[in-house]
Amino acid sequence: MDLQALARPEILALKPYASARALAGNQGILLNANESPWPPPGQANDDQRSLNRYPSPQPPALKQALAEQYGVAPEQLLITRGSDEGIDLLVRVFCQAGQDQVVICPPCFGLYALSARVQGAEVVEVPLEMGERDWAVNWPALHAQSSAKLTFLCSPNNPTGSGCEALDVLALARQQAGRGLVVMDEAYVEYSDRDSLAPLVAEQANLVVLRTLSKAHALAGCRLGVVIADPVVIDLLRRIIAPYPLPTPAVEAAMNAMTPDVLAETQRRIGVLAEEKQRLLTALRNHPDMHQIWPGEANFILVRAKDGGSLMAAAAAAGIVLRDQSAQPSLDHAVRITVGTPAENQALLDCLAQWSA
Ligand SMILES: *Cc1c(COP(=O)(O)O)cnc(C)c1O
Repeated sequence: MDLQALARPEILALKPYASARALAGNQGILLNANESPWPPPGQANDDQRSLNRYPSPQPPALKQALAEQYGVAPEQLLITRGSDEGIDLLVRVFCQAGQDQVVICPPCFGLYALSARVQGAEVVEVPLEMGERDWAVNWPALHAQSSAKLTFLCSPNNPTGSGCEALDVLALARQQAGRGLVVMDEAYVEYSDRDSLAPLVAEQANLVVLRTLSKAHALAGCRLGVVIADPVVIDLLRRIIAPYPLPTPAVEAAMNAMTPDVLAETQRRIGVLAEEKQRLLTALRNHPDMHQIWPGEANFILVRAKDGGSLMAAAAAAGIVLRDQSAQPSLDHAVRITVGTPAENQALLDCLAQWSA
């Protein structure tokens, strides 16, 4: 499959910017990058971690740790400033303004359409089909998109929590081969019983998987995400990523997140959130002014209230911030509730017990 042929010609013609650190590494007397020779005043000199030095563009140790965690080869992986940056890089590399199409399945994460529009790509919507208990991807309609450069899927999806079957995603990627990429955003997959599609990237070259440390790994403030793709796609994305995208403290926090003890604690917390989610669901299902509840597979619940505005206001009055989703297609009066700590959830339950629309 000629993945390069899918990229914008301007990107193919680029000679990637070669930063000082990328050219020469960080060994020896470093007089090549116009850095300060001293650490910031008051801080100890700690070689590589010293903040006077530019960081490695793609720190090899972190890359190795993330590749192991996701079951892929390091060459299949690009570390980015959150998945947000991965989404933006994909759109900028593959979509020609005024010409290419990006397909999304709303209700979904707003950034796919935003990145596409900033790039001047056309956004084509193939809405999810709403069911009483779940939401479903309209696979036949996706297969019918003959000029999609990028198709964004998300499983579990934000805000519906719904998942999709690996076989359906693979079938779409096969059908789109030679025409476009299928991007699977797995920001919440740690919370789901489903397997990540990351290992399938090796057999289906136009499949791209996005992972992030922002959710289950508790590092949203770190801005660290990963694009998992064929090495040809990774090379194309590297051409346009910022020279030093990954701040040294963020890399250290991410390395820590990949240690066995921390991974075990992350797993334990996933279990706590699953129990807490059940507790919230029981109360929500018993509430007379909740009209629909979509439990989903992630760390949040989507509800349709009798009066979404009233629910938002009641929560706000109790100091609780929920996410109004009513602006999304077919989501009037819908509110997304993130599962919090047991104490936070209890505050919400207390509030709900008092609330009626
Ligand atoms: C939270 C979220 C992300 C994560 O974005 P980061 O930039 O990695 O923080 C990605 N996709 C979806 C659908 C999300 O909800």
